[in-house]
Amino acid sequence: MRLDHWPAGPRRGMIDAVERSVASDCVVIGAGLTGLSAALHLGWRGVRVHVLERGRIGDGTSSKASGWISAQLRTPNALLELVLASLAYYPEFLRRLGDDCGFERCGSLVVFDSVSQLEQRQMLDATQREVATFAGARFLDAAEVHDLEPALAPEIVGGALFEEDAQVEPLRLLEAMVRAAADAGVVVHQGAEVTHVGREGAAWRLRTPIGSFTAPRVVIATGAWTTAVAELAGTDVPVLPVSGQLLVTRPRKGALRRCVVYQPDPRFATKLACGVRPAVDGRLWIGTTYRAGTFDASITAEDSAAIVGAFEKVFPGIADTPIEQAWAGVRPVPADLVPIYGAVRSADGVIAAVPVAGLAEAAAGGRLVADIVCAAPPSVAADPFDPARFAEDD
Ligand SMILES: Cc1cc2nc3c(=O)[nH]c(=O)nc-3n(C[C@H](O)[C@H](O)[C@H](O)COP(=O)(O)OP(=O)(O)OC[C@H]3O[C@@H](n4cnc5c(N)ncnc54)[C@H](O)[C@@H]3O)c2cc1C
Repeated sequence: MRLDHWPAGPRRGMIDAVERSVASDCVVIGAGLTGLSAALHLGWRGVRVHVLERGRIGDGTSSKASGWISAQLRTPNALLELVLASLAYYPEFLRRLGDDCGFERCGSLVVFDSVSQLEQRQMLDATQREVATFAGARFLDAAEVHDLEPALAPEIVGGALFEEDAQVEPLRLLEAMVRAAADAGVVVHQGAEVTHVGREGAAWRLRTPIGSFTAPRVVIATGAWTTAVAELAGTDVPVLPVSGQLLVTRPRKGALRRCVVYQPDPRFATKLACGVRPAVDGRLWIGTTYRAGTFDASITAEDSAAIVGAFEKVFPGIADTPIEQAWAGVRPVPADLVPIYGAVRSADGVIAAVPVAGLAEAAAGGRLVADIVCAAPPSVAADPFDPARFAEDD
């Protein structure tokens, strides 16, 4: 991973901060896909932004993502709409970054080994079609599915194809965003854990080991750690950590043509969804498991065995491909499974930004955060993501 080769910008910023308190228009906490995209979109609009990252860029979950920009199984419809907006905006976003980051509209195929799975997917599709921008999945019979992906097991009885879904290389995307952010005047500080958030007149003052930062606007983009950071600002943003593991094989070109997913219950993420992404270098990225309520991102033999077991069951034609790497990360999951993008009412000037599918949402989500910070008309319908929904439940 090349994520420690950052330009000199962040280090310059660190020295400044130790010597004096740094003032700007907006501070973004967290340098993952969400925080960087928000900072970048703000930088492009001429806003002076500092990003504070406690570790290194991408250290949270963003360097662990599987690389799917996938709308097909997104539910509820507000999330589907956001991911579709992101899918539509990604090519322009990447053009602005000056790097295609391996983006490919490869499509996704959800496969079933039982009629009840097929029926569940059809029910979900009927609900998803209420979204004007969702054309619907194309349902395929067993022969069509095996024709498309010969590595699939004979037990696969059908599939749902959504050709608009895409893939991108997560680390390349992070790197491209950091380069573009530096060009846009955004300063990213690493080793800058926010330990205290307090008011200072109309601004917020954030304390870190490398100095203090003040700004009238603060974006909390700290992923799975958001609840703890929001508490520093005296507010509640309920986000659960859900860890998950992934395996990556040796290159095997042509093994699959598109992202293929087998999910025992297609409506919900369960303990395991066996998704395989054929990366442009031929490696197969296979995952992922779900462990709710833990920040433990250890690689376990149990999770590896679960992923390999499902891979062997669904893809016997390529199951002998050697595994080369494994890693795990901790997803942020908003308490009601709907992304959070919006102003936190109890902390004036604080905006929370927590995705459900942070890679898929990165393009449109970051743009939406910039809309909110700048009080511009939202580029996507933002009401469903308003964190006020949690306060109303109290
Ligand atoms: C195995 C796996 C595969 C996945 N695959 C996909 C996929 O294919 N597609 C998809 O859309 N999503 C995928 N996801 C989910 C996706 O990775 C996350 O939704 C996304 O990375 C979240 O990004 P983020 O920027 O919001 O959070 P993070 O990347 O976690 O960034 C938050 C940052 O905040 C920093 N931070 C925390 N506390 C503080 C503090 N006090 N001060 C300063 N900084 C702080 C952290 O160090 C971290 O770097 C996957 C997740 C996992 C685990």
